[in-house]
Amino acid sequence: MTAPFPTGTILGYPRIGRRRELKRAVEAFWAGRIDADELERTAAELRGITRERLVGLGLGRGDSSIPESFSYYDQVLDAAVAVGAVPTRFADLVDADGAVDLAGYFTIARGEGERAPLEMTKWFDSNYHYLVPEIGPETRFRLAGDRLVREVAEAKAAGFVTRPVIVGPVTFLLLSKASDEAPEGFAPLSRLEDLLPVYRELLAELAAAGAEWVQLDEPALVSESLGTPRGEVLAAAQTAYESLGQGRPLGILVAAPYGSLDDALPVLQAAPIDAIALDLVKGEVPSGATTDKVLVGGAIDGHNIWRGDLAAAFGKLEKLREVAGTVAVGTSTNLFHTPHDVADEPELPAQLVSWLAFADQKVGQVATLARGLAEGRAAIQAELDAASAALEDRRTAPGVRDGAVRGRVAELDDAAFARGDYAHRRAQQDVALRLPPLPTTTIGSFPQTGDIRRERARQAKGEITRDEYEGFLQQEIADVVALQERIGLDVIVHGEPERNDMVQYFAENLDGFAVTQNGWVQSYGSRATRPSILWGDVSRPAPITVRWSTYTQGLTEKPVKGMLTGPVTILAWSFVRDDQPLADTAYQVALALRDEIGDLESAGIGVIQVDEPALRELLPLKKRDQGAYLDWSVRSFRLATSGVEDRTQIHTHLCYSEFGVVLDAIDALDADVTSIEAARSRMEVVPELEKSGFGRGIGPGVYDIHSPRVPSVEEVRDLIGIALSSIPERQLWINPDCGLKTRGYQETVASLENILAATREARAAL
Ligand code: GLN
Ligand code: ZN
Repeated sequence: MTAPFPTGTILGYPRIGRRRELKRAVEAFWAGRIDADELERTAAELRGITRERLVGLGLGRGDSSIPESFSYYDQVLDAAVAVGAVPTRFADLVDADGAVDLAGYFTIARGEGERAPLEMTKWFDSNYHYLVPEIGPETRFRLAGDRLVREVAEAKAAGFVTRPVIVGPVTFLLLSKASDEAPEGFAPLSRLEDLLPVYRELLAELAAAGAEWVQLDEPALVSESLGTPRGEVLAAAQTAYESLGQGRPLGILVAAPYGSLDDALPVLQAAPIDAIALDLVKGEVPSGATTDKVLVGGAIDGHNIWRGDLAAAFGKLEKLREVAGTVAVGTSTNLFHTPHDVADEPELPAQLVSWLAFADQKVGQVATLARGLAEGRAAIQAELDAASAALEDRRTAPGVRDGAVRGRVAELDDAAFARGDYAHRRAQQDVALRLPPLPTTTIGSFPQTGDIRRERARQAKGEITRDEYEGFLQQEIADVVALQERIGLDVIVHGEPERNDMVQYFAENLDGFAVTQNGWVQSYGSRATRPSILWGDVSRPAPITVRWSTYTQGLTEKPVKGMLTGPVTILAWSFVRDDQPLADTAYQVALALRDEIGDLESAGIGVIQVDEPALRELLPLKKRDQGAYLDWSVRSFRLATSGVEDRTQIHTHLCYSEFGVVLDAIDALDADVTSIEAARSRMEVVPELEKSGFGRGIGPGVYDIHSPRVPSVEEVRDLIGIALSSIPERQLWINPDCGLKTRGYQETVASLENILAATREARAAL
């Protein structure tokens, strides 16, 4: 008999710690300052604090409502090591039972010398990056990791019955790629039958350790963007859950965050599992057939930070009751997309704070709705009313709606989204810029040295004055310009030393945004970002980058490239208001950028780059939503960039080489020059570009900036050769894959020198 499912739960909780304690401990371990035992002690302490806190916020100590969702680095890597899926290049890290220790785990995550780490890529439509498992016929699945089992036992010893969380087998295989050993065309999903016994064994061990429920995360059942035909995905889900459900030793909850299950819902409903967690924020309450399973209604948004409409959330749960015998309330996703606690933001205005809910506040909301489910709406009416009042306050607060901004958006006509004919632009730019064939440039940032970070911190603490700090930045820019001139680059950048972050810098300088002090969210591994909060109508009170760019232009005869972050990326890497369509917000941001671009042009900056590395990331998981998204995202870029003269050259930069569905959109951006990531895949994207007939400037990266390796002149020359075999020389630009901010100066200088040497050879051979 399965234990009853708790009435309220969350799908997962941030694991980095309120003050990023895990980051510091993990990095201390990497640096050899603490040993594995100490790291494990710190992690156990953090888990203990989390459990106690969740009880304090209203979850139950002994009813499986607390998820056991810790990870030292990444939940997909955790699943890989738990089932023994370690690539053969790391075979020496694996012991006789197939297990790897903590040091080995981090080596797989981060690589070591010539051994490449697992590849990293974005987790569904979020800004979290997971590690991509490598699966082949040689992968020997076996229960190899007992970390999750030990955590359940650790909780039990402390008096908790928690619910272990692990990536489900279908999602695990769908997110994996074929290993180096795998034959052409091999699909990791073909190994499902071999993997399932290992999951079964894991469930048995979790039950033996005291777990009464397990949560298997299957977001892949929601996505239509993973490349596997839907029929195969559904068949895999059926196989997996029929197998895991037979004689199950504990209750099985299958969680489907990030959207609606659509045709996967009946498959899960027919399987011998006990509960299904639905995303009721991105997805709808299902209608039709009733089910005897527990439906966990994810009515609280786990992927954003708004307090939201609690009464509406409760209404969804009441509707869900019409189709399910048992309904519980949950979050739509794991809460690791949100920071820990609004109470840690004393510097945010109180009014804004009253509109927000970070992870801890969301747990409180779940507890409230659970009480409502158990005792009836009247029991929580006061809380529902308080949330509605906050929502009403937000609706009418100054700055949330700015008539001037709205008027400008309403008056836009088609001309605001279009530039002149490209051939004419190109001719004008050739005259204005006088660039050599195969022009060279960088993507914008130069190394963010310890010096830069130190001076920024000193300025923030008031140890140096604003003037002193700006003087330091000017010197930094002058050095970077001199370096580029010495190396021989054609289009000069200022190096972005004034920016800590591609979005926060703009958020700090635009109206409608707020920035947090402790609002850290895990991005990958030990890295966290602090997304800005876009809460109101966006406008630009004053020029932002113009003085840096004009100062830079004053130092060189060569064209300087102004550097901005595009509207889609600003949205993707912020917490964005949820009270209007994203498109409306994007147009406001675009208009603010359009003003900035106009001022840069007037100040004599002839080349302006608008980065959109997140264009792909926000692409909806459902095909039916993609067309509308691509339409507004492209239009917002064009709105930002179409106000300039034909002679002004607009660049854009995108951080990936898998274009697929977005290739047409990239073309539609109508940028004069587009730089993309290509070195890592050895220019794989280039033939695709040729096929598509891409007709403007294109800079496929020739230097993989993700690695400290310096590419040799020959290597770069080869890459240029590959590019030239598909791209007409008139269109080709030579640049690195991405910005240089994470690199050191030594490898940066050596790499750029080699790039220039290779370019000179290629020019001579034209
Ligand atoms: N201009 C930015 C830089 O060079 C672009 C970074 C990015 O694409 N992620 O750092
Ligand atoms: Zn990039």
